[in-house]
Amino acid sequence: MKELRQIAIYGKGGIGKSTTTQNLTAGLTELGKQVMVVGCDPKADSTRLLLGGLAQKTVLDTIRDEGEDIDLDDIMKTGYGNTLCVESGGPEPGVGCAGRGIITSINMLEDLGAYDDDLDFVFYDVLGDVVCGGFAMPIREGKAKEIYIVASGEMMALYAANNISKGIQRYAKRGGVRLGGIICNSRNVDHEQELLEAFAKELGTKLLYFVPRDNIVQRAEIKRKTVIEYDPESNQAQEYRNLAQALLENKDFVIPSPMTQERLEEILLQYGMGE
Ligand code: ADP
Ligand code: MG
Repeated sequence: MKELRQIAIYGKGGIGKSTTTQNLTAGLTELGKQVMVVGCDPKADSTRLLLGGLAQKTVLDTIRDEGEDIDLDDIMKTGYGNTLCVESGGPEPGVGCAGRGIITSINMLEDLGAYDDDLDFVFYDVLGDVVCGGFAMPIREGKAKEIYIVASGEMMALYAANNISKGIQRYAKRGGVRLGGIICNSRNVDHEQELLEAFAKELGTKLLYFVPRDNIVQRAEIKRKTVIEYDPESNQAQEYRNLAQALLENKDFVIPSPMTQERLEEILLQYGMGE
């Protein structure tokens, strides 16, 4: 029997979680892996590139319109490379618990038998400015045992990554959840790779992969495609394949040791802003 790896992807809003997760997923499907992506962001755009823009009705909307008696097909669509795509959905901003969709979706997916033996990977694409309540759901309930944080060399991205690590540390002490590494989604900040390597090391983890910034991501996005589907021969497509390979081979899972704000600023000064 194959081993199912359930992975939560956290990071500041807009950092590139959904883009990176979907491209990484496309890379994994090329390696013959069966992948499910569960969007856990109220924006519900975690599977757009895999589904070619086909609107995936969210789990919360489906339940609201059709009641609790729904089929797996109603909430899970098949996308690029036979990927399975789910969007949790969430309430309008400022209304109710934004994490409720995640809780409902995971329970619903379980009840409907979505976590079957053919799956190799499940990715939870989770908004990560807030590692509270519902947003911690995939790791709190022991679903995802493996976490990656998407960050860049920008201070707010690192600040969020450090905060997320605090949340992971809390849950790791109780359960089996571990940090697998940092994925840098480059913003072309000076000395970005060195900075991210130092930041990851301070957390007790590693930089899993450095994804360059490339406008081909936007061109593919407009066409509602991953870069791997849009231009399989491009450099950026190869970068995402390399990321998929790095994740596939990763065996370093740790309980992170978050740093103080002072230490974070020190590292930023030493590496990021250095000459
Ligand atoms: P998140 O899911 O973290 O909120 P997204 O994946 O939606 O962030 O990314 C935000 C925007 O950043 C996207 O519209 C995408 O076009 C752009 N983007 C992400 N990664 C890259 C990259 N490596 N190079 C260029 N643009 C990128
Ligand atoms: Mg997103």
